[in-house]
Amino acid sequence: MSKKYDVVVIGAGPAGYIAAIRAAQNGLSVACIDEWRNKDGKNAFGGTCLNAGCIPSKALLESSELFHRAQHEFKKHGITTGDVAIDVAGMQKRRASIVRQLTGGVAGLLKANKVDGLVGHGKLLAGKKVEFTPVDGEPEIIDAEHVIIASGSTPIELGVAPFDSEFILDSWDALELDAVPDRLGVIGAGVIGLELGSVWARLGANVTIIEAMDNLLFMADRDIAKVAAKDFKQQGLDIKLGARLTGAKVNKDFVTVAYEDKGGEHTFDVDKLVIAVGRKPVTDNLLADDSGIQLDDRGFIVVDDECRTRVKGVYAIGDCVRGPMLAHKGSEEGVMVADLIVGEIAEVNYDVIPSVIYTAPEIAWVGLTEEQVNASGRPYKTGSFPFAASGRAKAMEQTSGMVKIISASDDDEILGVHIIGPMAGELISEAVLALEFSASTEDLQRTIHAHPSLAEAIHEAALAVDNRALNFPNR
Ligand code: FAD
Ligand code: NAD
Repeated sequence: MSKKYDVVVIGAGPAGYIAAIRAAQNGLSVACIDEWRNKDGKNAFGGTCLNAGCIPSKALLESSELFHRAQHEFKKHGITTGDVAIDVAGMQKRRASIVRQLTGGVAGLLKANKVDGLVGHGKLLAGKKVEFTPVDGEPEIIDAEHVIIASGSTPIELGVAPFDSEFILDSWDALELDAVPDRLGVIGAGVIGLELGSVWARLGANVTIIEAMDNLLFMADRDIAKVAAKDFKQQGLDIKLGARLTGAKVNKDFVTVAYEDKGGEHTFDVDKLVIAVGRKPVTDNLLADDSGIQLDDRGFIVVDDECRTRVKGVYAIGDCVRGPMLAHKGSEEGVMVADLIVGEIAEVNYDVIPSVIYTAPEIAWVGLTEEQVNASGRPYKTGSFPFAASGRAKAMEQTSGMVKIISASDDDEILGVHIIGPMAGELISEAVLALEFSASTEDLQRTIHAHPSLAEAIHEAALAVDNRALNFPNR
């Protein structure tokens, strides 16, 4: 007799494992299937986020930032260190240990919530049946009342520069380099290109980034992108805009990169080349031909606002469906679906999803950019406050950047908050809460912020919206 569960989740990344835990908390019997295998050959839960994405990249960003600050900042604090050196093996050991602890933690959480964590491949068949093939085992059929697909995404490969794991790397390879390349090329100045480019640049690599768009950070507010461009330049990142990769030739021990821009064809040589031009949904061998699930023209599983597919009882969440490819977006979809299954009211507010880029300084925003508000035709007002005027930022020696707030002129509703500066990724949560509660600028103005704190910059930016900043001259 085949096994039966109330819910079978395919994929144990931040979308899938959170959906599984929430469903179990809701009193359902749950299995969560995952086939992720790390470079050491071991299977692990946690998906891209924990094994090859958010967590390892942030571990390296922290190490490289500390290395950079020890070299360039300690002296200002009166700290003498002698020569500061980077031990890449030590740094990578720490990264791997953090990943191991957290992925082991997910396995523990599944167990504690009585979710059956099944290691192997899952495939959706017709009639809400799932074929599960354990690692080195025979396929078996599992019956499910509800199926949640959370199969995630993988890097896009370019025909002109196929991955070889040695010279032409994807983002996962780039996180596990065992030495600092002298010359690093990156294709794509998106989130991954900027974060990984920053890591290796701070550790001493000469980094050149090729970006097809004419504007850096085209999705961010222009004022913020301008500050970012200046900071990245100062940090030595050579970003070539309006440039499209046309070829990558692997020589004996280096790569010749060819690109095209307004000025014509150019080439340059690098020791390693990272391709970071976006990610695509994973659906290979996931859906039987008669599963009834529909894919869109970019390969994403088609779902409605509540993540329902066209097949009743089958949902899809996270990177394999429309919307930003962010761990927190996938997790919230997981919570929503697990609650909808038991008949609770649940939704994801897709208008209020924070974006964070973990460069130094960090960049974070929520809501609309000034360009988007302007295009909407709604009258608006803006206010900003520079971290150079923040006592806490000065004490931290991190004064680059600002907070910018955009609010409606008619009813004072906050429409967008944009931050570039120290701990922007932490600060943005206050703005997310404000937008979630449809707060007005005045709500932020009348909220007491601890002194001295970086969050005071949000308070002051809110005051500046009405030309009432107290610690910076108004316009
Ligand atoms: P995934 O995390 O990709 O997990 C999907 C899982 O499903 C995988 O384990 C996969 O093996 C498994 N699977 C797929 N198909 C099957 C199958 N048929 N059978 C069994 N198992 C299957 N996002 C952020 O929000 N913040 C960040 O700081 C951030 N940093 C990132 C840095 C990098 C370098 C990268 C690459 C990504 C980063 N992201 C970040 C994006 C984030 O990792 C993804 O948005 C997130 O992991 C998506 O979660 P998911 O659960 O949908 O998919
Ligand atoms: P991305 O979409 O952020 O950036 C890709 C960039 O590559 C774009 O700017 C694009 O214009 C450029 N590009 C595309 N083709 C090109 C070509 N042929 N030549 C030159 N440039 C080209 O994608 P990514 O950086 O690969 O990241 C993938 C996903 O992972 C993103 O959706 C992101 O949300 C997620 N992610 C999030 C975080 C975070 O939240 N901090 C960190 C890393 C990744």
